[in-house]
Amino acid sequence: MGFEKNIRRVVPYVPGEQPSGTDIIKLNTNENPYPPSPKTAEAIRNFASDENRLYPDPAASELVSAIASEHGIRESEVFVGVGSDDVLGMCFLTFFNGQLPVLFADITYSFYDVWAELFRIPYETVPLDDTFAIRPEDYEKPAGGIVIANPNAPTGKLLPAEDIEKIISRHPECVVIVDEAYVDFGGESALGLIRRYNNLIVVRTFSKSRSLAGVRIGYAMADEALIRCLNDVKYSYNSYTMSRLAIKAGVASISDKEYFRECLDKIIATRERSTVLLEKLGFQVIPSASNFLFATHPEKQAEDIFNYLKSRKIYVRWWNKPRIRNYLRITVGTDEQMNLLAGALADCLA
Ligand code: PMP
Repeated sequence: MGFEKNIRRVVPYVPGEQPSGTDIIKLNTNENPYPPSPKTAEAIRNFASDENRLYPDPAASELVSAIASEHGIRESEVFVGVGSDDVLGMCFLTFFNGQLPVLFADITYSFYDVWAELFRIPYETVPLDDTFAIRPEDYEKPAGGIVIANPNAPTGKLLPAEDIEKIISRHPECVVIVDEAYVDFGGESALGLIRRYNNLIVVRTFSKSRSLAGVRIGYAMADEALIRCLNDVKYSYNSYTMSRLAIKAGVASISDKEYFRECLDKIIATRERSTVLLEKLGFQVIPSASNFLFATHPEKQAEDIFNYLKSRKIYVRWWNKPRIRNYLRITVGTDEQMNLLAGALADCLA
């Protein structure tokens, strides 16, 4: 008796459903509707299972090196992890170790407050304005850290690079994380600022734009002193985060620039088309710089639409949370999937 009081109790993050079945349309977790690069498929096919007998390279150097050269930066400026969730969690643990609150938006990636609670980091949410935009001036207060998803999730809204810089430059006393999970779909990256601001860390993922959510690769780019601190924490917790297969798959994905661009262009074109389709049905859609749409209908409750779509085996995301209760987040799928979605929505609204 009595051990219960020593247990770390947390309210976990709830990821979107992963329903099984082939006849569903899955637009609920911002995955890419297109397969990973054929070069990745080939790397996975050629992967000899016997290689798994040995531990992987703890530094994942091959992958770090590919990422560094892709972005024209040094290997010492790159950290990799098991999806950007792992990287972001490591960043919270490493950089947010003070008494002042870490600041992030009231409507943003709902893992941030979960990490803050898990690691007992004080935090404060900063309300977005009525158009769901971040106002840089709202961040002008003492902070133990700042986290900005750009483009933001689940709104898809982009904060201009000069506003990001405004926030970073006014907070030299704390680390600023810019979570660029969706930046490849149309955002302006803060990467160009890492040499100017040694308190900036930019986090990216292979899960969305590179169609590799299942392989789990994320990375951070920052001044090498920050990267060293991240590595020290990683090596104090789990040295072998990246599997041999993940390293190979990631390197192959980066080598295929053409396929990467092709998929992005298709998704961006479908996003724009789908925005028009939804607007024709009476939805208000926030202009998206990501691979998802955030939409509300003036006449029909989002929860009802969500449940109706589910009955038609179309999965989108809905949160029963203040301010966004009447919105749906819809991942951009293929043109065909989006046409089927539009048809179901028309039935729902009829
Ligand atoms: N950041 C944001 C804003 C996200 O929406 C997601 C996806 N859930 C992630 C990070 C994490 O993605 P992953 O761990 O697959 O890289």
